[in-house]
Amino acid sequence: SKEINRNTYEFFNPVMSVQASERLEVAQELHKALDRNEFVLVYQPQLHFESGQITGVEALVRWQHPRRGMVSPVEFIPLAEETGMIVPIGEWVLRTACRQNKAWQDAGYGPMRVAVNLSAYQFKQSNIVQKVDEILQETGLKPEYLELEITESISMQNADYVIETLDQLNRLGIQISIDDFGTGYSSLSYLRDFPIHRLKIDRSFVNDITASDGDAVIAASIIAMARSLNLEVIAEGVETEKQFEFLLSKGCNEMQGYFISKPLPAEAITDRLLINKIT
Ligand code: C2E
Ligand code: CA
Ligand code: CA
Ligand code: CA
Repeated sequence: SKEINRNTYEFFNPVMSVQASERLEVAQELHKALDRNEFVLVYQPQLHFESGQITGVEALVRWQHPRRGMVSPVEFIPLAEETGMIVPIGEWVLRTACRQNKAWQDAGYGPMRVAVNLSAYQFKQSNIVQKVDEILQETGLKPEYLELEITESISMQNADYVIETLDQLNRLGIQISIDDFGTGYSSLSYLRDFPIHRLKIDRSFVNDITASDGDAVIAASIIAMARSLNLEVIAEGVETEKQFEFLLSKGCNEMQGYFISKPLPAEAITDRLLINKIT
C-alpha cells in the first residue's frame, strides 16, 4: 500500500512529476557527461601554519553543462550517488587529480598532497583499494601525495569491512582524512579504531568561531583532541583574519578557505604561485 500511496501522490502532484522527469533528464545527461568531457576539477590550496607553505590542495569537481552552465557538486553528487554514476565519475576525479599533482611534482613545485573526496558509495565498492592502486601506478604519483577525504558516514557500513579497507588503503601509503568532522555520527570510537591521518573541522564550526563561544569551544576541543590522538587537524571554510588567528592560536595545523583562496583551475594555482617552485 506504501507503493500505491506514493504513486497516487505523484500522480496528483504536478510539481512532483515535473521534478521526477527533470531528475530523470539530469540523470541521463549525467550518464553522457563523462564521455562528453563536461567535468572539470578546481583546486583549493591548503595552508600549513608553521611553514607558511601550501602543503596540499583539495580537488573539487564541477559540471560544465552545455545548457545549464556550471553545475555545483551539491546539485549532482547526490543524484550521481543514487544512480551509481558516482563510481565512474569518482574514478575520473581521482585519475585527473593524481595526474595533475604528478605534473606539478614533475615541474618542480614543492611536495604537496592532493585531496580527493571519496563518497561513502565509492568506499563501499569492493574493488576500491585496487582502483586507487591502479590509478597511482598509472599516473606515477607517489602515494604519500594522495589523500582521500571520507566522511563519518562510512562508519554506518560494516565495521570489519571499513577497518580492513582503511588498513589496505593505508598500506598503499596514501593519507586519509575525515571530512566535515563533527557533523556526523555520535560515536567517536572510530577515531581509535580507524587508521586515519587528519581531521577536517567542518566549516559550520569555523564560521562562527569568533562570534559564538559555543563554536569556539567546539573547534578548540577538536584541535586539542586531534593533537592528543596524534592526528593532524585542518580547518575548512576559513574566511576571515580573525578565524585564521584563532585557529593558529589553538594549534591547528592547516587551514583552507576563501581567506587564502577560492578553488581555482589548475593553471591559476601555478600562475599565482600559490604553490612554490623549489628547483
Ligand atoms: P566539501 O568536501 O566539504 O568541500 C568544501 C566546500 O566548501 C567546497 O564547495 C568549497 O568550494 C567550499 N568552500 C571552500 N572554502 C570556503 C569558504 O571559505 N567559505 C565557504 N562558504 N565555502 C568554502 P563545493 O566545491 O561546492 O563542493 C561541495 C561539496 O560537494 C563538497 O563539500 C563535497 O562534499 C562534494 N564534492 C565536491 N567534489 C567532489 C568529488 O569530486 N567527489 C565527491 N564524492 N564529492 C565532491
Ligand atoms: Ca572535502
Ligand atoms: Ca568538508
Ligand atoms: Ca561540507
